Amino acid sequence: MQQAATHLMRAYARQPVTFARGSGARLWDEQGVEYLDAIAGVAVTSLGHGHPEIAAAIAEQAALLMHTSNVFRVEWQERLGQRLCALAGMEKAFFCNSGAEANEAALKLARLHGHRRQVAQPQIVVMENGFHGRTLATLSATGNPAKQQGFEPLLPGFLRVPYDDIAAVRQLAEQRDDIVAVLLEPVQGEGGIRVAGADYLRHLRALCDRHGWLLMLDEIQAGMGRTGAWFGHQHAGIAPDVMTLAKALGNGFPIGACLARGPAADLFSPGQHGSTFGGNPLACRVACTVLDIMARDGMPQRAAALGQRLLAGLRRALEGHPQVVAVRGQGLMAGIELDRNCQELVGRALAEQRLLITVTRERTIRLLPPLVCDEAQIDEIVARLARLLSGDSAQAITPSNAAGPVAAGQTETRT
Ligand code: PLP
Repeated sequence: MQQAATHLMRAYARQPVTFARGSGARLWDEQGVEYLDAIAGVAVTSLGHGHPEIAAAIAEQAALLMHTSNVFRVEWQERLGQRLCALAGMEKAFFCNSGAEANEAALKLARLHGHRRQVAQPQIVVMENGFHGRTLATLSATGNPAKQQGFEPLLPGFLRVPYDDIAAVRQLAEQRDDIVAVLLEPVQGEGGIRVAGADYLRHLRALCDRHGWLLMLDEIQAGMGRTGAWFGHQHAGIAPDVMTLAKALGNGFPIGACLARGPAADLFSPGQHGSTFGGNPLACRVACTVLDIMARDGMPQRAAALGQRLLAGLRRALEGHPQVVAVRGQGLMAGIELDRNCQELVGRALAEQRLLITVTRERTIRLLPPLVCDEAQIDEIVARLARLLSGDSAQAITPSNAAGPVAAGQTETRT
């Protein structure tokens, strides 16, 4: 596989591991070595790897009908739209293939909303440390200069404020009359697992109501049960005007969604937006299956309980650790901030502990375990991470002491 990499653009700094298959929270590389997955493909495979019901839905629908285009009615798209709107208290859905595309749709809605209100140069308030994608518009909305560097000129029309700081948004509201929307994540994932305060979100909702701005929430990483509620904003008891989803919605099958309610729900007219692949029968059936499983198995509640266990375990295990600045999170989104650049830990976690983690903002270890983890796996993530941070290489897991691979096709017990 090494040779093929020479023909791939250098967009990623890849780890020298190739996974061959997975089951639940476990993965096996090409040599059959077992790993524990604490990132779920970056908040994507929340129902775990190799889920038999999702695999069956894909196989059945692939044989029946995969794509007809949006020139025609798509029954599974109608069903998914209805299901998601009912779940999220929204009215209309637009389907696409990724998170960035879902946010593109949201940004276009905000511009339409502004022009409808006779604002010639509509401005969208966005957050420092926010992350919304890699297309030019979503990169412009993203609050990370390192990721933007080299791609200037960025798109105009964004006003940036510190996250979780209502005074900063109020100040902008006093200064400008061209603001039309606010876009933010209820929990900043790439930004280092920073949870917006419930009061902040409620004040933001009130400010948007007062000024006629759209409150647009990017739930791409935090949504779909991960924080312990179906959507992160539900902890604050508010409802957005626009909400974007992707990642776990397809459990690895690409799909994104932009949901809207109120005036935002009817802004697009035919021809104003579209996607060739978006909302195809296969993707929408997979997402409906994901919703079925998540609802049946109580995934948001499970994420809440396991998240408490994970955070409590991390705090206990890392208490007093000289390099640990903070342990924070909500549900199964956890961040461990260190006092140093710790990007090398991703490779060391793989090699020494057979554990998949990511590091974001250079200093924060980010954990996004699958929601199907069991309690023992959560405890195991904590134990391996504590060993990694203790620097005790004598306790490194080697192929000989890691649990052996299971036979192909065998799945672990799900609860
Ligand atoms: N928004 C948030 C909050 C994300 O975490 C991500 C991806 O990490 C995106 C948007 C972009 O999603 P995608 O990579 O599917 O375009």
